[in-house]
Amino acid sequence: MLECMRNDCDRPATEKTPGGGDLCSKHADAFWAQREKTNRDYPDSDIAPAWFDPTYAGERWEEDE
Ligand SMILES: [Zn+2]
Repeated sequence: MLECMRNDCDRPATEKTPGGGDLCSKHADAFWAQREKTNRDYPDSDIAPAWFDPTYAGERWEEDE
């Protein structure tokens, strides 16, 4: 079973989100809410606004060395 790609989350992934990867229901809800808000605020732009943090919905690599 796939796990949610968000760090610190070990819930099973139930949704595959475009650009967001595999997310659990909780994080998928957050992802879609954020996406909807972005689309509403910037309906004509495919480019994420500067304040949009790609780590919010995507992968984040942490160096641990
Ligand atoms: Zn999650």
